[in-house]
Amino acid sequence: MKYGILGDVHANLSALRAVLERFDREGVEHIISVGDVVGYGAAPAECVALLRERGATVVKGNHDAASTGELEVLYFNPYARAAVAWTRANLGGDEIDWLKALPLVAELEHCCVGHGTFHRPELFDYILSSTDGDPSLDTMERAVCFVGHTHVPLALLRLHEDPLRTSTHFDHEEIDVGQAHRTLINVGSVGQPRDDDPRAAYALFDSELGRVWIQRAAYDIEREAARIRAAGLPEVLADRLSLGV
Ligand code: ZN
Repeated sequence: MKYGILGDVHANLSALRAVLERFDREGVEHIISVGDVVGYGAAPAECVALLRERGATVVKGNHDAASTGELEVLYFNPYARAAVAWTRANLGGDEIDWLKALPLVAELEHCCVGHGTFHRPELFDYILSSTDGDPSLDTMERAVCFVGHTHVPLALLRLHEDPLRTSTHFDHEEIDVGQAHRTLINVGSVGQPRDDDPRAAYALFDSELGRVWIQRAAYDIEREAARIRAAGLPEVLADRLSLGV
């Protein structure tokens, strides 16, 4: 099975379209989203509609939960908080219901998917290191799992010959998951990358070959920044897109 995994779209329609085009070109059979479809960007309804149309498996991110009123925005920065309020006002009841119904974790035939962690997904903690990732690697229901949330691609591997040791990989263009006992992969962010590369990040997973590739797709950043400014969202949310921060 060929999976296309994307996440942290954050209502960035141009970036989402660019990634879906890549999926079509690569012959992806099933789309997975690691959450945060909405929040920050100015096209939340359009992004929800596109993922629904494609029959994607989608889990709930913290911005999705905040936008439906399920999660307190106490710990959000002021820009994120403003975006949550804007998003809530610009989503229809049907979209809110769809976001509310999303699961925190989804298990598919060849992999599982969550937003932050697998051991306590409702807390939306960040996995930034092998120490952060170990409790998730211990509780994962599949050998290969995908998360998002940090907006920075990352791969944590436990190899068959040394399954108690977790190694961290940032150079992750091709990941040989067939060689690993367990693999936890952060696929980066489609709509607001924070690793100094402004291009949309996503992953391809071929379950037969046992390979994952993390790739980038360029998109029309200026167009999306203009959409954010026109919506009256905080200027910084438009400016940061071209910086990849
Ligand atoms: Zn996010």
